Amino acid sequence: MSDSAPALAARPATRTNPLAHTVTHTATRASSPPPYCGRFAPSPTGPLHLGSLVSALASYLDARAHRGRWLVRIEDVDGPRSPPGVAEQILLALQRLGMHCDEAPLWQSRRIAAYEQALAQLTQAGMIYPCACSRREIADSLAFRQQRLDHPLRHATLTYPGTCRAGLHGKPARAWRVRVPEDVERAQVRFEDRWHGPVEQNLATEVGDFVLKRADGQWAYQLAVVVDDAASQVTHIVRGADLLESTGRQIYLQRLLGLPTPAYLHVPVVENAAGEKLSKQTGAQALDLDRPMQMLHLAARHLGLPHSVCADSIESFYAAATQAWAARHGATELRHETPGARPKT
Ligand SMILES: [Zn+2]
Repeated sequence: MSDSAPALAARPATRTNPLAHTVTHTATRASSPPPYCGRFAPSPTGPLHLGSLVSALASYLDARAHRGRWLVRIEDVDGPRSPPGVAEQILLALQRLGMHCDEAPLWQSRRIAAYEQALAQLTQAGMIYPCACSRREIADSLAFRQQRLDHPLRHATLTYPGTCRAGLHGKPARAWRVRVPEDVERAQVRFEDRWHGPVEQNLATEVGDFVLKRADGQWAYQLAVVVDDAASQVTHIVRGADLLESTGRQIYLQRLLGLPTPAYLHVPVVENAAGEKLSKQTGAQALDLDRPMQMLHLAARHLGLPHSVCADSIESFYAAATQAWAARHGATELRHETPGARPKT
């Protein structure tokens, strides 16, 4: 087929875009940037551990260094994986560690209507199609394509081969996918990460058309994050580097939906002895909340903050850590891309 996907250039936001709560930023862009807003967005699959504390602390310090707002969003859109009570435990742990959010937490499980609205908007724009492939069929199709290449592509197993772009041929729809540009140049997403510098990802060769609504009826992480960050007017995203490879997809969705692109900073993830990212699945221990200072010092050291932030009270810890963070990351100008602000490629 000819490439019907639009280039990555932003679609101009209109006043009728229901998702673009931030539309006024377009009007005020010339005079003042939108006020800083950051967030920490844990999945409540288990209690807070050192890995999630590092992300929480980094986003909190960045917000304080910018004198901005800091929000917490519970990413429980993946209902079955969220045991009851864990989210409340995480919120309590943040409080005991001295991180207080500026608004009531947002729960993704209560945001379904907003995700449906976003999917409807993309459907109307002709960007969504149903997919009947099982994981197995995608793997088989890629293996077949790989055999015909002289130099098999690395990481190609992650790339959806576009099987259902031309229709389902009578098979039942399982998931819903968004089209990415077929043209390799137009599918290139570039952004500046405040920790890693310039980052590029090619959605056509590295990702393929990706799922927004899964075969089990759950909303994909990528869509929920983009819709919620825009609704909360988040200007700065600070999170673990394991999400660096999701950022290209999220920026692409922001542009398709006419939403602003925040600034990004991805901090190094904490690994276990085997070199795996620390998580509940890789055996992360819950934080010892009876020793909050020790936990905070460990996280600060992982973020590369100097030993001088070691303090004997929560208040003095945050004062020193915020200053150290600001010296390293806080001097960045508040940049917040708005739809239409980016030159067309
Ligand atoms: Zn398919």
